[in-house]
Amino acid sequence: MNEDLSLDWKELGFAYHKTDYNLRCTFSSGEWGEIEVHTDETLNLHMAAGCLHYGQQAFEGQKAFMGKDGKVRLFRIDDNARRMQNSARGIKMEPIPLELFREMAIKAVQLNARFIPPYGSDASLYLRPLEVGTTPLVGVRPADDFLFVLFTTPVGAYFKDGFKPTKVVVYREFDRAAPLGTGCWKVGGNYACGMRATTKAKENGFSAALFLDPKEKRYIDECGPANFFGIRDGAYITPKSGSILPSITNMSLQQIARDMGLRVECRPVELEELATFEEAAECGTAAVATPLSEVYDEANDRSYCFASNGQPGPVTTELYRRLRGIQLGELPDTYGWTTVVDI
Ligand SMILES: *Cc1c(COP(=O)(O)O)cnc(C)c1O
Repeated sequence: MNEDLSLDWKELGFAYHKTDYNLRCTFSSGEWGEIEVHTDETLNLHMAAGCLHYGQQAFEGQKAFMGKDGKVRLFRIDDNARRMQNSARGIKMEPIPLELFREMAIKAVQLNARFIPPYGSDASLYLRPLEVGTTPLVGVRPADDFLFVLFTTPVGAYFKDGFKPTKVVVYREFDRAAPLGTGCWKVGGNYACGMRATTKAKENGFSAALFLDPKEKRYIDECGPANFFGIRDGAYITPKSGSILPSITNMSLQQIARDMGLRVECRPVELEELATFEEAAECGTAAVATPLSEVYDEANDRSYCFASNGQPGPVTTELYRRLRGIQLGELPDTYGWTTVVDI
């Protein structure tokens, strides 16, 4: 419990908590302005702003960790910056300069340093950068003016049970993205598309929906906000698909898997192949690597089960341990993934 902040780091969950400052930068008349520091939590948007009507919105998510050595680390921040540029281009928004993204992320952590959860709490300071099109519009076209906002919030585990196996469900009546749509970009519209599936999944006692490829409904795409991977015969297997979001956590786990001597297969993965997998998990900044105990295929009333005695599998456990170790400064950062923030 932090007395000053009256925040119990262990009970944070994945929810919004106010911090001191948020940063903003606007793009208008063809250029980015100065970085602005705000304490106000609300935005003043024109009611006709394009983002409110036609969904021009993209976002990112990343975490700052308090390390064992007392240093604060951001994880692969430049990869987030590049991905945000891709997302922006994907929906015809102005890409945020990489340097601007980096500067705002670092500054947001510094300004809100008192909200960085302590080492050992399993919590972190989550950064949420977002970009929206703000030009007042009625006709459908890309905006000319954009707002880039970056706020922070301390978060705990995404799933309330933490690193424990969780159940997910496959529905065939919903897609989160179209075959040649926006699934490969981190845009809010994809989440709107997935809301019905996710809500139904939770109502039925699952932690998430696992989406199939929208074209053939044969291959695994991903879980709402997290990629999928499975372990079989010394291989780390993860779906390759044009409609999934390239997860930075997944990319990192693939490298760690290679370092552990596993083979990495990035290819279409049929749902039915799950019957042969020893372990399965979902991965993302929020979920880290969350083991799956069961994937339930509702249409065929078929369950694929993994975890042994309710425990995470050994390979998923080791992947998780190594990733966390790098993020917390407990293990060497061989690939230069972390950025130490002076606070
Ligand atoms: C953000 C996100 C992920 C996870 O990506 P990370 O870079 O690992 O956080 C996976 N799928 C979707 C749809 C996402 O939006």
